Amino acid sequence: MTITVIGHMNPDTDSTISAISLAYLLNKRGMEAVPFMQGEPMPETKFVLETMKLKQPEITNSLKGKDVFIVDTTETAQMPADLNEANILGMVDHHKMGDITTSAPVEMWVWPVGCTGTVITNMFKFYEIDIPADIAGGLLSAIISDTVLFKSPTTTPADKLAVEKLAKIAGIDDVNDYGMQILRKKSDVENESPADLMNRDFKDFNYNGQKYGIGQVEVIDIAMLDSKRDGLLEEMKNLKQSSGYHTVLLMLTDIMKEGTELLMVSDDISPVEKAFGKTFDNGYSIWLDGVLSRKKQIVPQLEDVYK
Ligand code: MN
Ligand code: MN
Repeated sequence: MTITVIGHMNPDTDSTISAISLAYLLNKRGMEAVPFMQGEPMPETKFVLETMKLKQPEITNSLKGKDVFIVDTTETAQMPADLNEANILGMVDHHKMGDITTSAPVEMWVWPVGCTGTVITNMFKFYEIDIPADIAGGLLSAIISDTVLFKSPTTTPADKLAVEKLAKIAGIDDVNDYGMQILRKKSDVENESPADLMNRDFKDFNYNGQKYGIGQVEVIDIAMLDSKRDGLLEEMKNLKQSSGYHTVLLMLTDIMKEGTELLMVSDDISPVEKAFGKTFDNGYSIWLDGVLSRKKQIVPQLEDVYK
């Protein structure tokens, strides 16, 4: 049966490119595999697909009865509801271990690096398969996107090494210049509705039975979001009500200033205040200097409070 290769909900550049690259690699290993994604690509991902002349994967929201490789997550909450009716063959990821389990042995490639693209670059090396130029360009773009051009504290030497190697294959002479083009696309917020921005990168977390939703929007200048803040807070309130969250957080991350304005709508603000040692003087936002990563600088800090 053809293998479905697919990443998380609200697809980003890494989940999309990793699906494409892993499907290519599986085909080279003699398996028939096709990449998919769980929704429309955002402007940054569209830019990468167009620049590297990679075909946009088809969209699907059902995995029932399929053989599946999962990329860029190991969380059931990030997958279609019928995942339990799929046959999971493997997972490739760089997040903390999630809750997906399998009934048969499974191929696992989960590394503590900045991007799933970095793991896949190393899988090509392991299987001694050449990376074609278009896929190398895609993988390089995913690593730049996930590590915010190496500014994120999630960046590891393995990510930098992978980009060095991929740049040569893809023929990208000035990684910094190309990286800034990606970050500018990441900042493309002008024509996006508050709901679109919220969904860009939104994930659910459960702290001691309290449901948290944490989103992130990354821009090269936080002033780009000034006209959006009220609409975003309104959207957060609606989402909290309609989906029964204890707390909805939205990270407005300024890539160049290297910090995050954390917006919050909550039943009880004290856990968040405790997690970051700050008070929400205006009731809805705090500035967190040096914070760029939800995974490393927001999620574990909240987990600690609820321990
Ligand atoms: Mn991702
Ligand atoms: Mn990723």
